[in-house]
Amino acid sequence: MDLLTFLDNSPVNFLAVRTLTKELADAGFRRIDPCEAMPRLEAGKGYFVTKNDSSVYAFRMGRQTLADGGFHIICAHCDSPTFRIKPHAEMFQEGIVKLNTEVYGGPILSTWMDRPLSLAGRVIVRGKDALHPETRLVHFGRPLLVIPNLAIHFNRQVNDGVKLSKQKDMLPLLAIINDELERDNLLLNLLTDELAKTSDGKPFEILDFDLYLYDAQPACRLGLHDEFVSSGRLDDLSMVHAGLEALLAADKAPETTQVLAIFDNEETGSQTKQGAGSPFLASLLQRMVLAQGETMDGFYRAVEKAFMVSADNAHAWHPNYSEKYDPTNHPHMGGGPVIKINAAQKYATDAHSAAVFAEVCREAGVPVQYFVNHSDVAGGSTLGNILAASLPIQGVDMGNPIWAMHSCRETASQVDHDYCIRAFTHFYNQ
Ligand code: ZN
Repeated sequence: MDLLTFLDNSPVNFLAVRTLTKELADAGFRRIDPCEAMPRLEAGKGYFVTKNDSSVYAFRMGRQTLADGGFHIICAHCDSPTFRIKPHAEMFQEGIVKLNTEVYGGPILSTWMDRPLSLAGRVIVRGKDALHPETRLVHFGRPLLVIPNLAIHFNRQVNDGVKLSKQKDMLPLLAIINDELERDNLLLNLLTDELAKTSDGKPFEILDFDLYLYDAQPACRLGLHDEFVSSGRLDDLSMVHAGLEALLAADKAPETTQVLAIFDNEETGSQTKQGAGSPFLASLLQRMVLAQGETMDGFYRAVEKAFMVSADNAHAWHPNYSEKYDPTNHPHMGGGPVIKINAAQKYATDAHSAAVFAEVCREAGVPVQYFVNHSDVAGGSTLGNILAASLPIQGVDMGNPIWAMHSCRETASQVDHDYCIRAFTHFYNQ
């Protein structure tokens, strides 16, 4: 699946996981239910596990024992900054319906204004008993909402900078309602109509939902030579896509077991059961080792031999703001994947792991760049150092350069994406 289709099919974390698991299943990867005993895993065969419908862990078993071969792990995250619909969301004002939301992660608020927006996520419906409700995914796919700016005539200083309130300024408008009857359960009725389309006439009862806004305009290429990719959620779905494509393209009988771990909730600090701060991946790798008849000592040996590429986008040098960047380490669009380095260890990278990844890129014929923060600018953090708490694995933090990180619409370079898939594939083939 090409990047643009992948992005359009993955408007929120839950849908990204569905897109991923469908691609994996189509390629012959077998789903393992984490509630069941871990089966014996066959060399050369692929498997995957999901957690909370919003994180996925795929692997292809290597020919070596896990203790001898370790793991080659690529990780990335499938959540992006957005707005979550609150319960009792409908707010009626003079015939206009708006939805009450709260902010998820750290979006650039103003970029969400005056765009066609839509809704996607999961809906929980009544199941066989209280503890076993069922999950249905929804993706409206059509523009439904807008957060209109205030006209410049009401705020002549708008171009001098505006402070935005998340509670007042950022609520999306959904409809004009003149019919009093339509006011009751407006959102619930909208969801019911949408779910009915895929329910084959079977009755269902909605209990709750996790619904988020997304940019309803499809991803596109732009630039004189079509060199750029414009889309929401490039951070970090572009790295998720690169990891998936690499896993599917990689050697089907590898020496070392290949792992792709896609976490949720990186944008809110990763401290959830489906986030990188969870011991879930460590437990899964442990279960894999034990299911092969190997020992806990074998697991610790596998961890020592493992290498992890923590893939999350980097900041491309912006020609309008060159003063914000480090004078000697500012990656350029189209210059290839970026190794991210931080003296305070917000990134997992050290000289050893940077050298390993740079060599992988060199062997794959891929150029590599370096990012270090301007020393007066505090940077972000990512997955690698958080994972280290449960899995002390040697690894590198890297990502492709993008502009406008956390904008509703970010910009990347197509050639960097192609480079990244090539480097990841070569890494899995080691
Ligand atoms: Zn990210």
